[in-house]
Amino acid sequence: MTALAQRTGAANLGQGFPDEDGPEWIREAAVRAIRDGANQYPPGRGIPALRAAIAAHQRRRYGIELDPGTEVLVTAGATEAITAAVLALAGPGDEVATIEPFYDSHAASIALAGATHTTIPLIPREGGFRLDSAALDAVIGERTRLIIVNTPHNPTGTVLEARELEAIADAARRAGAVVVTDEVYEHLTFDGLAHTPIATLPGMAERTITISSAGKTFSLTGWKVGWATGPAELIEAMLAVKQFLTYSGGAPFQPAIARALADGDADIEALRGSLAHRRDLLLDGLRAAGFDAVRPGGTYFVCADASPFLSTEMPDGAAFARALPELAGVACVPISAFCREGSPTAAALAPWVRFTFVKDEATIRTAIERLRVLASAG
Ligand SMILES: *Cc1c(COP(=O)(O)O)cnc(C)c1O
Repeated sequence: MTALAQRTGAANLGQGFPDEDGPEWIREAAVRAIRDGANQYPPGRGIPALRAAIAAHQRRRYGIELDPGTEVLVTAGATEAITAAVLALAGPGDEVATIEPFYDSHAASIALAGATHTTIPLIPREGGFRLDSAALDAVIGERTRLIIVNTPHNPTGTVLEARELEAIADAARRAGAVVVTDEVYEHLTFDGLAHTPIATLPGMAERTITISSAGKTFSLTGWKVGWATGPAELIEAMLAVKQFLTYSGGAPFQPAIARALADGDADIEALRGSLAHRRDLLLDGLRAAGFDAVRPGGTYFVCADASPFLSTEMPDGAAFARALPELAGVACVPISAFCREGSPTAAALAPWVRFTFVKDEATIRTAIERLRVLASAG
């Protein structure tokens, strides 16, 4: 979609990366680290200063106590943490459950591990996408080795509620499954919604690997500094896999992110406020153009039902997303790209598409101006 957007000059609300770099003082800290000699392999678990900063962040924000020596692992982005966790803990014959729609790397890591992918749908309801708790009971069983959670959720923008997290935690405890939770949007919530790590629920710290990253929090996605926290024996198993994925990386970025986690609260607040404003702008624009768009509680994304614009020539969101750059000069992504081919969720969400608002306000305004042609055509 990004290649198509570039070819057609479309406003690219498809791929979800920021078009503005993160705070200068954090970037300067990395420059200084290079000048000061942070240029050789850092330790496999990550530099002590960053592991201490991650543990301090989890304590300060969520009351989670961690030993930075054994319960924290620095990774090449959240992506490597997810892959290392799944490869370490699941294999052929095991089932790994994800929410559906799901982030692409979750499915890919399950396939790499040779495990079987099962899914728990998020269903569009009045007021947002909510977890299908009945499906949870049907899907999670004794063969379930891992449950991969993602909140705030990409692509739907759902911030899972307490009762949804409790239902997942119940199912995990019953099945004896480990929860791997992708929380890269932990700080990007709106409307006063609070993110709750599932590791803080009763009995969950001992069976949860919590994953996050500096990429989304500080608009530094290219630095690929992520981390996993959890019980020492699970982190140890991930370390054994990570040894041969990357061993280590990001030497000058690690000290910079250690400082960002300690001193970056004001920057996080500023980003959150600016994103909330851009979300409202995009949401209003999509609704004015005739979409049924769901107000996201977090992340970078708005999901919209394109049904009013579909036809026999353009029967679903995938066809709509392919046509939109020519039709209106805007790029988006079909939700079916985040579903298993042929699944009931893929069928239910076939008309849906995702737009990102992590673009400058001018780009969003251009996009919603252009989308007006849909309203007049429809
Ligand atoms: C962007 C994203 C990631 C990737 O994080 P990195 O730190 O860049 O590897 C992982 N999970 C979700 C849900 C994302 O949206």
